[in-house]
Amino acid sequence: MSNRTFTMIKPDATSKGYTGAILDQIIQSGFKVKAMKWIHLTPSQAGQFYEVHKERPFYGELVEFMSSGPIVAAILEKDNAVADFRTLIGATNFKDAAEGTIRKKYASSIGENAVHGSDSDENAAIESNFFFSNFERF
Ligand code: ATP
Ligand code: MG
Repeated sequence: MSNRTFTMIKPDATSKGYTGAILDQIIQSGFKVKAMKWIHLTPSQAGQFYEVHKERPFYGELVEFMSSGPIVAAILEKDNAVADFRTLIGATNFKDAAEGTIRKKYASSIGENAVHGSDSDENAAIESNFFFSNFERF
């Protein structure tokens, strides 16, 4: 089990001014920030990040959305980081998310769902390496 996960605060949440509140909830929940950047992805970069979903019907919409405004990307550390962070953010569809979860509080649709969280240790490492070089993390 790894103690690190990767997250993005998505363009819907940054544009609505939720960045500070979301980061506060993440930190108050016991996650330590090990790398962070504020970045506006190009469609090509967003497409590459979500390449696993290339064949899904929502891929075009997802790439357009994720390159529509700035995001905050971060590496987070905590025991059981991947699973605990997925619990903290809630279900993909905010309508199914538990009360108090980040998506329940800040998401507005299944696509515009405020935050990303890695779904495995392997993907956490791949996604962290996509955004951060070795000297941008500690
Ligand atoms: P993420 O990977 O962003 O943390 P997730 O793991 O909960 O989310 P995935 O199945 O990996 O969900 O989908 C990736 C993202 O694609 C979702 O977070 C959402 O933004 C978008 N998405 C998923 N399903 C749909 C859908 N049916 N319609 C529109 N967008 C969707
Ligand atoms: Mg996912």
